[in-house]
Amino acid sequence: MSTKSASIAPIEPARAWEVVLQHIEGDLLSGALKPGDHLPPERALAAELGVGRSSVREAIRVLEVLGLIRTASGSGPQSGAIIVARPTGGMSALVRLQVAAHGFAVRDVVKTRLVLESAVVAELAEARHPDLGAALELLDAMEQDEPLTRDEYLTLDQAFHLALAVASGNEVIASMMAGLRDSIESYVRVGAGNLPSWPDTEERLKAEHRGIVAAIEAHDADLARTRIRQHIETYHAETKVSSIHPD
Ligand SMILES: [Zn+2]
Repeated sequence: MSTKSASIAPIEPARAWEVVLQHIEGDLLSGALKPGDHLPPERALAAELGVGRSSVREAIRVLEVLGLIRTASGSGPQSGAIIVARPTGGMSALVRLQVAAHGFAVRDVVKTRLVLESAVVAELAEARHPDLGAALELLDAMEQDEPLTRDEYLTLDQAFHLALAVASGNEVIASMMAGLRDSIESYVRVGAGNLPSWPDTEERLKAEHRGIVAAIEAHDADLARTRIRQHIETYHAETKVSSIHPD
């Protein structure tokens, strides 16, 4: 019943942006690229893979939609795409699109974080051998010597919270957290502009993150819950953001 011509169609070569995507995904899966790293510059990738720069840009857009990288605004050596997560699949991208269409109230997003993340850290604290590898990797990335911009720090901060959710093994909570990522990042970023001193807040956040992990490692669920609540509530109180206009 085929209406195809008799000649055998040649196997279509992968489109150029797919070549780039596969290359970057491969590096993410092998660990050659890890959260906190910057992607090689667009020009270098294009030259290495023998594709046009527009194809590199296209691949980067796809990775951004999937929540694997975030492209920083601005220019200079610190601009460009930063890795924020390991590949986990496309489900969270669907949730994110739905959330983006609604624009939730900040107080509701914060309350939802408190419910979800309290459950996450308690679950981790009660686990016999919680796998905190990815979360610890992100904490190290946030404390690296090479200075991060405020936006980069906050991006890794959110990735840390998501990594805890993933580590809890509760895939529903992890997907909800991933889906809320844009809503959370919006108020966190907008709020950062209201902080009296970003360096002071950054130091506090670092100490709080280590404290949360320490409570989990000590299998103290109550302490872990208290610390994650303080972490989320203090930042929210300090930044006083009540509404956001997503970019
Ligand atoms: Zn945090």
